Amino acid sequence: MEDTGDTSLLLGGEEVPPVREVNASGRSPFLLICDHYGRLIPRRLADLGVPAAELTRHIAWDIGIAGVAEALSGQLDAHLIAQRYSRLVIDCNRPPEVPSSIPHLSEATAIPGNEGLADDAVAARRQAIFQPYHRRIGEVIERRLREGVPTVLVSLHSFTPVYAGVARPWHVGTLYHRDTRLPPLLLELLRAEPGLVVGDNQPYAVSDATDYSIPVHGEARGLMNSGLEIRQDLIADPAGQRQWADRLARILGEIEATLRAQRLI
Ligand SMILES: [Zn+2]
Repeated sequence: MEDTGDTSLLLGGEEVPPVREVNASGRSPFLLICDHYGRLIPRRLADLGVPAAELTRHIAWDIGIAGVAEALSGQLDAHLIAQRYSRLVIDCNRPPEVPSSIPHLSEATAIPGNEGLADDAVAARRQAIFQPYHRRIGEVIERRLREGVPTVLVSLHSFTPVYAGVARPWHVGTLYHRDTRLPPLLLELLRAEPGLVVGDNQPYAVSDATDYSIPVHGEARGLMNSGLEIRQDLIADPAGQRQWADRLARILGEIEATLRAQRLI
């Protein structure tokens, strides 16, 4: 498959590109990424045949995380790379060859526009959305490494408080696999926050089969990395988003000081 990406295969000239970048010259060692930032659907896909009310639910995007990510980027002076199109079009945190990359069903909602796609329709989604996003993250990391800029990858997500009828007790969770440096620091400081129930690889853990961003951009390049998952009811409004951005900026600031003291960055 062509690896260069081509947004014209799926997006009209008036539609925004998939990659949104904030604070690209930010000086923080933290590189923030946000795979499920947006819920746009290319006009050509006619809402994938899904009723409008479903397209504002968590199945379409990570509710609340865009506001947290933008505020955190500003507070940390950190580069943020985010993806504006819905995970129902193509999930930017799934290996493209797995069935959940372009899901036929999300929680209990059928996605008719994803049924029976021809190979070229699948390729168009990859080339127009998945590839430009991941290519950009890769370019930014390569440039930082080349220039000797310390880089710690943080992947921002949010999770629904109730999934398939089961309530989740955690307020926030770390999400990691092979990195043994950043996740313990995050867990220690999150657990020190009053009243927080903190998940250690809950409600999700990272694996090569179910994730893309951390294995490919964090682990394969040897970067310190972790995902963060915030429960969506806590960041549903701007006040909650600000509160969580403040908290994470403070915690990541402390972690930066620790990593510098340990000469890990
Ligand atoms: Zn997510």
